[in-house]
Amino acid sequence: MTKIHVIGGGLIGMLTARELALAGRDVVLLERGETGRESSWAGGGILSPLHPWRYPDAVTQLARWGQQHYGALTQALAANTGIDPEWTQSGLMWLSTDEKAEALAWAARERYDLGVLEGEPALRDCEPALATGFAEALFMPSVAQLRNPRLLQSLRAELLRLGVAIHEAVEVRGFVTRGERLKALVTHAGELDTELAVVASGAWSGDLLAQTGLSLPIKPVRGQMVLFKTEPGLLTRMVMHQDRYLIPRRDGRILAGSTVEDVGFFKQTTDEALAELKAAAFAMVPALERFPVEHHWAGLRPGSPTGIPYIGEHPHMRGLFVNAGHYRNGVVLGLASTRLMADLMLGRSPILAPAPYAPATETMDL
Ligand SMILES: Cc1cc2nc3c(=O)[nH]c(=O)nc-3n(C[C@H](O)[C@H](O)[C@H](O)COP(=O)(O)OP(=O)(O)OC[C@H]3O[C@@H](n4cnc5c(N)ncnc54)[C@H](O)[C@@H]3O)c2cc1C
Repeated sequence: MTKIHVIGGGLIGMLTARELALAGRDVVLLERGETGRESSWAGGGILSPLHPWRYPDAVTQLARWGQQHYGALTQALAANTGIDPEWTQSGLMWLSTDEKAEALAWAARERYDLGVLEGEPALRDCEPALATGFAEALFMPSVAQLRNPRLLQSLRAELLRLGVAIHEAVEVRGFVTRGERLKALVTHAGELDTELAVVASGAWSGDLLAQTGLSLPIKPVRGQMVLFKTEPGLLTRMVMHQDRYLIPRRDGRILAGSTVEDVGFFKQTTDEALAELKAAAFAMVPALERFPVEHHWAGLRPGSPTGIPYIGEHPHMRGLFVNAGHYRNGVVLGLASTRLMADLMLGRSPILAPAPYAPATETMDL
C-alpha cells in the first residue's frame, strides 16, 4: 500500500496522521521545524467558535462534531500517553453582548443550551471576580476548553505509538507530477516519491499550493495572547466581552486573548498589544491587576475568507489533498475536518457532506 505523506506537523497535520494511521495506513509526517510549535501551540483551546452564531452552517457542522468527540479523544490520549490535554467543560460566558437576539435564535435553531443571566448579582454569583457594571450575560455551559501544548505533546506521543514516522526539519518546497497525478514531493533535501499527500501547512498552505496552480486565499492573521499567573478559583468559566476573552486553566493560570492582525508572516509580539490585552482583561476581572504576566506570545492563524476550511482533493492534481484554512477555529474544527478528509481520501462514507469545503479559488476578504 502506498505511503501517505502529511505536510505540516501542527494540530491539523497531526490529527490527519492519526486518522490515517488508525485506518491502517503507512503515514509519514513532514514538518519544517518542530511539530506543534506554530498556530496550534499559540491558540487558546476554546472548543467553540468565539461568536458561533456569526458563522456559516459549514462551520457549525464541523464544530458540533468536534464538540461531541473531543472528550473521548482527550481521555484516550491521556490513557495512552500519560499526557493529559486537560479537556474541561468550563462553559463560556458572553458579557453584555448586543447580539443577544441573533445568539438566542441561533441556539434555538441549532439546539445548543444557551441561557441568559440577568442582573449584576446573578453574574457575580457565578463569577465573584467579575467587574461591576455588567448587567447581563449569555452563558453556554457545554463549551469546553483544552490546553493546546499538552494536546500537541500527547498527540505526538500517540503518533509514535501508532507507528507514524515523524520527520522534523524537512521542508516541502514543491510537487512533481506525471500527467494529472502526484508523483513526488520536492523537499530541501531532495525528492520523496509519493502518490498520496496532504497539505496541512497552516498559514503557509496558500503559498505552497500556489505552485500547483491552485490559488486558495489562505493568509496569515497574527494573534497575540498573554498569560497571567493567578490563584486557582479566581475565575472558573471562560468569559468574553466584545472581542476579548479570558480562559481559566485548572492550575489557576488565566489566558487573555487575542488580537487579530493582518501583518503578513511577522510573528513578533508588540507592546501595544500587551497593553491592550491587559486593559481588556482588567476591565473584565479587575483582580488580575494584582498578578504577574508570565508569558506573552503570538501565532499566525491560517486565515480564510469565511472561516470555512478547505478540505478535499486538489482539483487538478490527483493524489494531493488539502486540509487548511481553519482560521480562528482550528482546534474546535480540526477533529471533524481531519476525519472528513480521511473519509474522502480513503473512499469511506463521509461524516459530513463535503461540497462546502471543496478546495476552489475564491477572492480574499479578511
Ligand atoms: C492567538 C490564537 C488563539 C487561538 N485560539 C483558538 C481557540 O481558542 N480555539 C480554536 O479552535 N482555534 C484557535 N486558534 C486557531 C487555531 O490555533 C488554528 O486554526 C490551528 O492551530 C491551525 O492549525 P494548523 O495545523 O493548520 O496550523 P499550524 O499549527 O500553524 O501548523 C502548520 C505547520 O505546518 C508547518 N509547515 C508549513 N509549511 C511547511 C512546509 N512547506 N513543509 C513542512 N512543514 C510546513 C509549520 O511549520 C507548522 O508547524 C487560535 C489561534 C491563535 C493564533
